[in-house]
Amino acid sequence: MDKKLISVVVPCYNEEEVLPLFYDEIIKVSDDMKAEHSGLEFEFLFINDGSGDGTLALLRRLSERDERVRYVSFSRNFGKEAGLFAGLENARGDYVVTLDADLQHPPRLIPQMYDYVRSGEYDCAATRRISREGEPKLLSFFSRMFYKIINGISQTQIIDGAQDFRFMTRQMVDAILSMPEYNRFSKGIFSWVGFETKYIEVNNTERAAGKTTWSFWKLLKYSIEGIMAFSTAPLALPIFLGIILLIAALALLVILIVRACAGNAGSALTLSFLFTLLGGIQLLCTGIMGQYISKLYLEAKARPKYIVKETEELYKNNKNKEC
Ligand code: UDP
Ligand code: MG
Repeated sequence: MDKKLISVVVPCYNEEEVLPLFYDEIIKVSDDMKAEHSGLEFEFLFINDGSGDGTLALLRRLSERDERVRYVSFSRNFGKEAGLFAGLENARGDYVVTLDADLQHPPRLIPQMYDYVRSGEYDCAATRRISREGEPKLLSFFSRMFYKIINGISQTQIIDGAQDFRFMTRQMVDAILSMPEYNRFSKGIFSWVGFETKYIEVNNTERAAGKTTWSFWKLLKYSIEGIMAFSTAPLALPIFLGIILLIAALALLVILIVRACAGNAGSALTLSFLFTLLGGIQLLCTGIMGQYISKLYLEAKARPKYIVKETEELYKNNKNKEC
C-alpha cells in the first residue's frame, strides 16, 4: 500500500482559547480523510510563535496525548512569516497544508484541496476570499489599492484575496524553501515559485475565538514590505520625478527670462515654494532608497529567520530523563 503523509502546519500566537476547538476539528477532518483514502497518514505541526499565554502548555499536553502532534516553539515572537517558514522546514509530509489556528481557514476544505492536488492537475490548492464582509470599509479600500499597485508594478502576480490556507506538494514546498530571503512575503513567494494553483473561492469567516493581532498600521507596513520584496519600481521613482522636474525647471527658466525681459523680477514666494517642493521630493526619494538599503542590510546579515527553544522531541526526551 502506497503511504502518503500529510503535514498540517499551523502558526500559533496566543491561541490557547481557540486551539482545542481547532484540534477537535482537524482530527474530525483527518479521520474522515483516512477512512476515505487508505494509506493516508497525518502529522499536526504547530509553531508556537513566542505566545505569552498557555499555548505552549496546551501543545505539550496534546503532543503527549497524540503522537501525531508535533510542535516547534520559538524563543520569542518572530511573526507569522517566520512561523510559516519554520513549519515548511520542519514538515515531513509528502503534502503540506498550512492554515491559521483560529478556524478562519475551515479545515473541512482540506479533503477538497487534497482531491485537486491528488488529481495531478494542480500542485497547490489555496483559498481565495471573494467577500470582505465584517471588515472595516477603509481597510477593504486600502487592501484593493494595495493589490492594484503591487500588480501594476511587480512582475509577480499577487492574487487579490488569496489566503495562506494552502495545500501543496512536496515539490512546491521544496521550491519555497529554496528561497532563502529574510524579508519573507509569502503571498509573493507562493506566486513567484510558479506551479499550478487551484483557487477555491470562499467567503470571509470570522475568528472562532481570541482576537486578531493585525491593526491598520501593521497591515500598511505589511503591504509596503510586500511591494518592496517583489518590486523595485519605487527605486525608479526618483528618475521619473527628476525628468518631470527638469522639464518644469526649464519651463520656469523660459518664463523667468521672458519676465526679466519685460522688467519683472521673480517673487520670493515662487522661490520658497520651489525650495519646499524640491526638498520634499528629494527627501522622499532618499527615503525610498534608504528603505531598500535597510532591507539589503538585513539580508546581508543573514540572520536566522527564527530561533527554536523547544520541540515536542526535546520536551519528551527531557521528561524521560527526569523519570
Ligand atoms: N500568528 C503568528 N504570529 C504572529 C501573529 C499571528 O503565528 O505574530 C498566527 C496566528 O496565531 C494565526 C495566524 O497567524 O494562526 C493568523 O493570525 P490572525 O488570526 O491574528 O490574523 P488575521 O486572520 O486577522 O489575518
Ligand atoms: Mg485570523
